[in-house]
Amino acid sequence: MIPRRRIPLEWGDLAEALRAPWGSADATAAQVAAFERAFADAVGVPHAIATASGRDALGLILDGLGLGAGDELVIPAYTLGELVPLIRARGIVPVPADVDPASFNMTADSVAVRIGPRTRAIFVVHLLGAPCDIRGICALADAHGIAVVEDCAHAFGASIDGRPAGSFGRAALFSLEATKAVAAFGGGVLTTADEALVAATRARLAGRARREWPPVRKMLLKCVEELAVRSPAYAIAARLMFSARRGGGFDRLYRQAHDRVRGTAAAFSGFQARLGLRKLQRAQARQRRLDAQWEVLARSLPPRFVTQRRDDFGRPAFYNFVARFQGDIGALRVAAQRHGLDLGIGGEVMDDTAAMLGYTDCPGAATAAAQAVLIPLYDGLSEGRLRRTAAILRRLAEELP
Ligand SMILES: *Cc1c(COP(=O)(O)O)cnc(C)c1O
Repeated sequence: MIPRRRIPLEWGDLAEALRAPWGSADATAAQVAAFERAFADAVGVPHAIATASGRDALGLILDGLGLGAGDELVIPAYTLGELVPLIRARGIVPVPADVDPASFNMTADSVAVRIGPRTRAIFVVHLLGAPCDIRGICALADAHGIAVVEDCAHAFGASIDGRPAGSFGRAALFSLEATKAVAAFGGGVLTTADEALVAATRARLAGRARREWPPVRKMLLKCVEELAVRSPAYAIAARLMFSARRGGGFDRLYRQAHDRVRGTAAAFSGFQARLGLRKLQRAQARQRRLDAQWEVLARSLPPRFVTQRRDDFGRPAFYNFVARFQGDIGALRVAAQRHGLDLGIGGEVMDDTAAMLGYTDCPGAATAAAQAVLIPLYDGLSEGRLRRTAAILRRLAEELP
């Protein structure tokens, strides 16, 4: 079985886990500060603040900018659906702006039609690492006197005219989940140049306890997950759960496995800071390896797979390889399973937030949700498996109606 993803793990990461319980509070604080400094430098902004998760960072940004009940926030009509309840819990009204199905990103035009008298901010996502039209959207926001918040959970390392994604809006959030570019087994980062937002956020974080064990435990659980995915039993389990085609059960399982450390109100740990620094140092080399693999896979797919257009506005970063399949994605997934290839579809890729919110005027998001297929591509995927993936998909493109 070629699994959908792999947990990025090196022996050096495990060594950091062994060091975790022994640091003094001062040493830990210094490590977290060093990580924040390095992250801010990488994004080209004055401030980076480590948080419990990417979502935690988003919550802190919304609160720090003073968004609350009755305020409208423009969001992408195609993105991670779990962000919606987080926004609504604050009484903020999310208003979806349609996406271009070629890039999966919203456009300045699709955002413009959603701005009204109660719009307080625009939440942009550089989806799957493809830079969106951040300059056009920032110009629009400036004209209306509202803020832009950038979700860079997929876009660490992406740039627009040489300037890093995350340095354009009032604030940005990054995720340090195991599946993201700088994987610290949970955690997030808020970046900004806004001193008032920094002060408000630091005040909110001040009371949080720093606990070293939960992220270490999460890393160990991920090791178990990785071993499970590599075992033959995984192929059988996956096939059983796929029998429902759209696989509700499997979708839930994947999301739970991706779940963060319980108690999101924890402070960033020294272990995560050291791990994050390691990953930051390795990020460019990782990106180069993935870019090379991306090219190989994109070139070897048949035309029924329309690869995401990633470079409309800048240099993309890698997150996941997603293409739109012109056909029945449920049938494609079942057939791919039989050949030992684990594809993601539907909510396993991203969510149609417009549909979630009851909007029916976002055809781009509907198309994206109906056609998007996540094809396994990750650091450490062997050349042989890459070739086999392409061969299976070429064959299925001919066989399937
Ligand atoms: C992963 C992700 C986040 C948040 O990350 P967590 O650290 O898991 O909370 C935010 N936005 C998008 C689009 C993501 O994929």
